This record gives sequence, C-alpha cells and structure tokens, in this order.
Amino acid sequence: MVAARESQAASGTAQQVDVAVVGAGFAGLYLLHRLRKAGFKAIALDEAGDVGGTWYWNRYPGARCDIQTIDYSYTFDPDLETAWTWSEKYATQPEILRYLGFVADRYDLRRDIRFKTKVTEAKWDEATERWQLTTDNGAPVSCRHYIMATGCLSAPKPPEIDGVKDFKGKIYFTGRWPHDGVNLAGKRVAVIGTGSSAIQSIPLIAEQAAHLIVFQRTPNFALPAHNGPAPADRMSLLQGDRAAYREQARQSMAGVPYPQQTVVSWQLSDAERRERFERAWAAGDLVHILTQLWADQAVDVDGNKIVQDLIREKIRAAVNDPETAAALTPHDHPFGAKRPCLDTNYYATYNRPNVTLVNLRQEPIKAITASGISTNGRSFDLDVIVFATGFDAMTGAIRAVHPITGRGGRSLSDVWAQGPQTYLGLTVEGFPNFFMITGPGSPSVLSNMAVSIEQHVDWVVDRLAALRDAGFNTIEPTETAQAAWGRHMADCSMLTLHRLANTWYTGANVPGKVQGLMPYTGGVGPYRSICDEVVSRGMLGFRLT
Ligand code: FAD
Repeated sequence: MVAARESQAASGTAQQVDVAVVGAGFAGLYLLHRLRKAGFKAIALDEAGDVGGTWYWNRYPGARCDIQTIDYSYTFDPDLETAWTWSEKYATQPEILRYLGFVADRYDLRRDIRFKTKVTEAKWDEATERWQLTTDNGAPVSCRHYIMATGCLSAPKPPEIDGVKDFKGKIYFTGRWPHDGVNLAGKRVAVIGTGSSAIQSIPLIAEQAAHLIVFQRTPNFALPAHNGPAPADRMSLLQGDRAAYREQARQSMAGVPYPQQTVVSWQLSDAERRERFERAWAAGDLVHILTQLWADQAVDVDGNKIVQDLIREKIRAAVNDPETAAALTPHDHPFGAKRPCLDTNYYATYNRPNVTLVNLRQEPIKAITASGISTNGRSFDLDVIVFATGFDAMTGAIRAVHPITGRGGRSLSDVWAQGPQTYLGLTVEGFPNFFMITGPGSPSVLSNMAVSIEQHVDWVVDRLAALRDAGFNTIEPTETAQAAWGRHMADCSMLTLHRLANTWYTGANVPGKVQGLMPYTGGVGPYRSICDEVVSRGMLGFRLT
C-alpha cells in the first residue's frame, strides 16, 4: 500500500478509490470498517500521526470524556463490547485513545489510513463524476464518494489577543497538547478560557504550578463528575439487557438511555424539586442533570431558572471568597443552553492560595507582552500561557478544506456564506456524493456523539451500497429539501432554550462567524426516525442519477 502510494505520488497520478474518508477518529474508523464490509475500496486520510481524532490531539492534563464511558463507546459489534472493559465512569484521554487503537487493530484498519496527510482541497469533476482531493503529503486521491469525518471540535480557535508572538515564555493549546507532556512544576502559569478543557485541566495545573492565573471571560456551569468505577445501577441495566439498553440510547433525545421526563417543575413542591436536584448532583452525570430533573427544564425559562439557582447555591458553597464565587457564577445563559462542564475539584481549586481568577468582564486583557499578560489594571509575569479557548466548532474543519468545489464550480464557502445549509446535516445541494458525519444540521454536539456517529455512518454506508446495487452513480439533495430542512431546524430551535445563549453552538465564540444555531435540537431518536423515513419514502429529497 505504502509503496504503491509512493509510486503514484512520484508519477503524479491519483490514488483511485471508491470512497475517501477524511478523519480517523471515532467516525472515520467506523466508516472504514463499514465501507470495507460493504465491498467498497476505501481509504481514510488524517493529518494526525495515528488514529483517535479528538483523543489523539487533546492530551492536556485532566482530559476525559463527560458522557459516561459505557455509553460513549461503539455499539455496532457485541463482541467488541465485551472484549473491552472501561476502568472508570469517565475514562481519561489515554484510555479512550487506547480503546480507539484497540478498535483499529481489531479490524485491521490502519493499513488503509494515510496518516500525517492533510486534505487541502476537494473538487467535483462533472465529466468523470468523481471527487479529486489534493493533499499536503503524497498522491492526490480520486474517489466516487467524499466523506468528511473531520470532527465537530477539531479546529482549534486561534488566539484573538495582540502580542502572542512577543511572549518569551512557552505557549500551549489544550487542543494541541504536546505528546510527551509539559512540566509545569514551579512555573507561573496562565490559563485563558473557562470552557470544558479549562475546567478539566485547571485543578491539575494548579497542583503543579507555583502560581496559576485563570483569565475568564464567561463563566460556565460546572457539575461534579464524582468519577470512579462505572455506577452499579447503570452497569446492571447494561448487562441485564445490552441490546435493549443500546436501543433505548438510539431512540432517546440525547443518545443516552434515560426516559423522557413528563413531570413539569410546577407540579413538584420545593422539597421535591430539591430532592431530585440533590440526587442528580450526587449522581455526577451530565445527562441525568440535563434531562431528568423535570420536563420543562430545557424548554421553559422558568423551569430552567430553578435549576440555575440551585447550581448557583452550590457554587457559592464551594468557593470561599464571595467575590470569586460571584465571578464564577453564570448569569448570562440558561442552564444547558451552553454545554455545561463536568468538574473534579474545579470550584474548590479557587480556594487554593496559589490560584487567582481574573474576571475579564471587569478587567479586560490589554496585551500579551514579552514577560506576560497585562490587563487594564495589572501586569502578570508568566512562564507559560495555556490557551483553552476552544474550537471553531462544527464548520471549522470542513471550511478548512478550501476550496471544496461542487457542481458548476461553486465553492462550499460561498454556498455557506450566510451559515451552513444542509439536508439532514449530512449532505449539501450542489455537492454530489459528498457527506458529512455529524455535520451542522444534525444532533451532533447536542448528543452522545458515539451514538450519533454510528447512526450517520450506518445511514451513509447503507445508502451508498443501495445506490451502487441499483446502478446509480450520484446522490445529491434537492434545493427544496435543503430549504425545508433549514425551516424545520429553525422551528425546532424555537422549542428549546439554546437560542437564548451566545455559544460555540451558535458560532458566537469565533469573531466574524455567521451566527445561528448549528446543531439540530429535535433530538437523537426523532432525528433517526426522520432519516429512516427519508429512505422508506424512496429517498425523499434526494436526486439520484
Ligand atoms: P474527531 O475525533 O475530531 O476526528 C476528526 C479527525 O479528522 C481528526 O483526527 C483530524 O485530524 C482529522 N482532520 C480534520 N480535518 C482534516 C483534513 N483536512 N485533512 C486530514 N485530516 C483532517 N463527545 C461526546 O459525545 N462525549 C464526550 O464525553 C466528549 N468529550 C469530549 C472531550 C473533548 C476534550 C473534546 C475536544 C471533545 C469531546 N467530545 C465528546 C466530542 C468528540 O469530538 C466526539 O465525541 C468524537 O470524538 C468525534 O469523533 P470524530 O471522528 O467525528 O471527529
């Protein structure tokens, strides 16, 4: 395979495959496995040096999943499920990376993956009805179908602060953490950002650093992880009837097998609400607290405010200094409208004498200088700056392949100039045989992504096999179907509270990005039914040739 590629590169000829997959994370690995089984000649290409995607890149201290690992796993092969045992309720990044390596070995996937190979451009050739992919390493690729499994959280956001290049100390990004680790012992460290990666890493950085200064623009709700072994009650449900447990996840709203709540907040007394909340808080389960308190918590501002107030009480109790506690307390968004974080000692870390919180709402950063960071009130001398500033989510990695040129020479960035337009979050009109896994317009980041990835991959591979067997060469959504999906997305977004927060779900974290809620808020189970109905109604909304 490698020798054949080298000779192709030398002769400038393209590597010919049926399907090219970009990305070798959770999605790319499963795609490769399914495509092969369906009889397609397929390859995957990844900029990374090995498999893992998110879990290859995010090696910062404390990196873990925040969906319980028994749920955040592949479910397509019952033998795989029993061949692997997770050691913790929320596995660490190294363990998840080992798991994905184990999957790659088990299905012998690496032989068809080109690592350290970035796809830089993609062009649909109308004459041959094939995509031509340009790479930064080795032969270009010619493929009938082009699938972007490039990840929703894989394009780190560049720093927006002047003077980064002047800083004489070390700069690290949580999303590109060095593989051999970083020794922060005795160092003066700044962390910029208080999103999920920051909330996971701050307690561990504080234990090592001489002094840690956290620069916070917007506080986030953080809930206790209470990590440990997988909870006995969840394990016994899984082991009692694995197939039913997995099926319930597939039909659920968030991709985790919890029932739909039917009792609304005002049907409960104060004491009953508090009892439910304390039980959820003690469970240390993001999805439990996001979905199981009362039925109106995610759709009604009053039902939501009760949850917010209960969490605010917890923050006040955990942080000794009232001013710091107030700065750490979110007031600008409904609970759940922005992804909440799971914490292990996060709030308590602010009680340490070597940790300082700088509230950028009151004291904005003026510049990064050679020696540190200056705000409009103070200067901080630093050895290390850690950017935990998140990602250009959902569209960043797709748009980074530039241009992606579809029919009639139209580029995807032009078509998406006013925000992403898709049919089902999977396909785009004018871009035949082009698919996105967990693309904008699908439940994606509002779900357990392992479940959403499997659903997308199964749907795409089943369609490709059916088209091939029926003698079709191309598949593309109609303009009407795409516009209708956009309207349905907008309608659904009016039902939840996500529209009331400026977040990375809406593109608000990236300067200049067009604003709009990108994930589908209708839920994982309903979305799955829609995708299945499209098939059962003769590929409704698609043009096949
Ligand atoms: P990724 O894992 O992001 O893989 C995409 C791959 O594509 C990357 O390796 C990248 O290098 C490659 N790529 C992108 N563009 C190109 C290009 N042009 N050329 C070549 N290669 C390219 N989700 C959950 O459901 N539960 C969790 O608990 C959870 N925790 C998370 C914690 C962190 C710190 C982060 C960052 C994300 C987390 N997520 C979680 C979301 C996570 O991204 C998904 O669950 C999942 O790993 C995505 O898999 P993927 O294969 O779609 O994309």
